[in-house]
Amino acid sequence: MTAEVLDAVEEFDVVIIGAGISGIGAATYFSRELPDKSLVVLEARDNIGGTWDLFRYPGIRSDSDLHTFGYEFKPWRHEAAIADAHLIKEYLEETVGENGLERLLRLRHRVVRSEWSSADSTWTLTVQTTNPASGETRTKTIRAGWVFAATGYYRYDEGFSPEFPGRDDFEGQIVHPQHWPEDLDYSGKKVVIIGSGATAITLVPAMASGAGAARHVTMLQRTPTYVMALPRVDRVALTLTKLLGEKRGYAVTRFKNIWTEHAVVKGLRTFPKAGRALIRRENIKRLPKGFDVDKHFNPPYDPWDQRLCLAPDGDFFDVIKEGKASVVTDAVARFSKRGIVLASGEELEADVIVTATGLNLRLFDGMPIVVDGHRVDIADALCYRGMLLSGIPNWAMAIGYTTSSWTLKVSLMCRYFIDLVRHMDARGHDTVVPVAPSGTKRRSVMDIKAGYAKRGEKLLPKQGPEKPWRMAMSYPEDAKALRGPVADEHLKFGTGRAASRRPGARRATHA
Ligand SMILES: Cc1cc2nc3c(=O)[nH]c(=O)nc-3n(C[C@H](O)[C@H](O)[C@H](O)COP(=O)(O)OP(=O)(O)OC[C@H]3O[C@@H](n4cnc5c(N)ncnc54)[C@H](O)[C@@H]3O)c2cc1C
Repeated sequence: MTAEVLDAVEEFDVVIIGAGISGIGAATYFSRELPDKSLVVLEARDNIGGTWDLFRYPGIRSDSDLHTFGYEFKPWRHEAAIADAHLIKEYLEETVGENGLERLLRLRHRVVRSEWSSADSTWTLTVQTTNPASGETRTKTIRAGWVFAATGYYRYDEGFSPEFPGRDDFEGQIVHPQHWPEDLDYSGKKVVIIGSGATAITLVPAMASGAGAARHVTMLQRTPTYVMALPRVDRVALTLTKLLGEKRGYAVTRFKNIWTEHAVVKGLRTFPKAGRALIRRENIKRLPKGFDVDKHFNPPYDPWDQRLCLAPDGDFFDVIKEGKASVVTDAVARFSKRGIVLASGEELEADVIVTATGLNLRLFDGMPIVVDGHRVDIADALCYRGMLLSGIPNWAMAIGYTTSSWTLKVSLMCRYFIDLVRHMDARGHDTVVPVAPSGTKRRSVMDIKAGYAKRGEKLLPKQGPEKPWRMAMSYPEDAKALRGPVADEHLKFGTGRAASRRPGARRATHA
């Protein structure tokens, strides 16, 4: 592989970085609503889809229902509301096709540095492109009036795996769900899955049943999680679609699900004891007689302090009931030749160990962001309406919810972004930067206590104590915040080169 610097410079009004569900959604909204703006989507990988293309472990599926995880402009047509990754990826490919986004998409274009100049109100992006045939990389420059960063929230190249002592002693195979080997054959083998998050809850039934099933799957957790069975198919949604047609049926289901979820989360957070008792009762109904629910399904935190895990149609409980899978609550002391020695002294035998131990949180792919010659530490920035960052002009980020469907927030942000750009155009502004009042108190943006959230907190921007600096974490709250008046005293607008620039003036050009 060789690296070569090219002189070609292209210029766009808006550059979207990332072609996951956020970037594809943003490209659709912007190309429809801001047709005069020149637009491009830069994607580092060979494929669109982000999360839904990267993860290949057995059973990989959504936790959210696709009526809220899907876009408001494109009904979800499959029967199952909880969807397998390949169906989500297909949905995204359809979105690209139906909205003519192919012409905007640049795959294998990784932004490695973003530099803002106030003198010409422009972002200069250093982009590394890769030739798929030769693997040769080149570097090019793309300039933009705006960056819409839809880069997700975790490292793609490396999942999180704690340092387990004795790892090298283990004679079987160790696999991380983020790097699943295509040819992994676990049929008839003893599998231990370390972890108790959504990935582990998905993997257990997927590996313990069906063709090529493991001999036995053990989920080894240090700390229990709340797990709830929910129907994979939303019968009410199917009826609504039958009665109202595809578009209206989808819209009403979406409305129903947004408000049902909001009520459930609020209820669980307000009455955690009752919530805990309800979940316990449901778990007992689904588990074998005598199962120690209070040991294995009794987290030390309240419901929804971390995301609740979902078992579609109770699949996770079924394999436990059938004896194909079991749960062990203990800590790893070390890996051994034959498996894992636990803190209790017991040894779990394994042929395959899956470290479902999580993600490494990272924003904007960790790229340097430079404003007028100074490198910005995004951990020092404050989030404005959950999508702009103090001290970083013309930069929006697509970060969704942690406790409800991610995309719900992204659609609100896209609408606000469109209104903001129109507002600026109408007044001849070309720069906007949020400025927080001096002395604004800062706290973490994470509203959940999951391991990855705690580990990554120090890398993330902060939030303030009140609107517009507080990060709303529910759709109804955000709908108010993001649909309100576009401008306020916290946004500082500028008119650099705008007077001499028409909308769409930043057409692709070559130097
Ligand atoms: C296994 C798993 C299951 C999940 N299930 C759900 C769920 O059910 N419901 C829910 O709400 N959330 C879920 N999430 C969270 C999920 O990641 C988001 O909901 C959503 O998929 C994020 O989409 P995104 O487009 O913002 O980011 P991503 O899917 O992470 O996509 C980001 C894209 O940006 C690209 N990119 C990054 N940096 C650069 C760069 N420098 N240059 C160019 N391109 C770049 C990446 O290659 C990637 O394609 C899940 C997460 C995981 C890991």
